[in-house]
Amino acid sequence: MSDEGGRRTGGRRTKADFRFDDARLCFGFAGTLADRGKAVPFERLAGPADLSRWCVESGCTGVAPVCTEADLARAKELREAIQRVGEAMAAGIPPGSADVTVINRAAAEPASAPELSADALSVRWHGDGVEAVLSMVARDLIALCDSEYRGRVRICGNPDCGVPFVDTSRAGARRWCSMKTCGALAKKRAYRARLRADGTG
Ligand SMILES: [Zn+2]
Repeated sequence: MSDEGGRRTGGRRTKADFRFDDARLCFGFAGTLADRGKAVPFERLAGPADLSRWCVESGCTGVAPVCTEADLARAKELREAIQRVGEAMAAGIPPGSADVTVINRAAAEPASAPELSADALSVRWHGDGVEAVLSMVARDLIALCDSEYRGRVRICGNPDCGVPFVDTSRAGARRWCSMKTCGALAKKRAYRARLRADGTG
């Protein structure tokens, strides 16, 4: 269903498409490096243009910012700091001080500004550049640390994935970063295992 450019058509996604399902902004950003548990992870921020696209697709700004290689390097530094802080939160241990410094530095930049729609049902974010977007991402992690959900950070149950998520379910039994990706994959694997056990697969 995908066309030559790898753009999604008919709702079908490619591996390079960014994932925002069920993800908090900060951990959605961490998920731009996929397959963290594999020997060779999959990089969705392959170039500065990908970072620019993420800024818009995440809803953090309406206008694609110009991104340089230096912006991309800074974004990845922030992303990995967020990943490690998420892992520390999931493990219930203090995060590394260098990672906290990286997150605080990003959050200190002015964030995108919100604009409420006339019907007060939606919001658009306006940022002047990639710094404003990265600031929003960093501030989202900080807000999480300051919220009742700070003890609800988990690492996805798919060992290939490894992305943190926030379990907001009442039962606190969510296992996957997203039911649309890792959860669906686990269901499919369980189904195939049942078929094999039945001798039909
Ligand atoms: Zn996952």
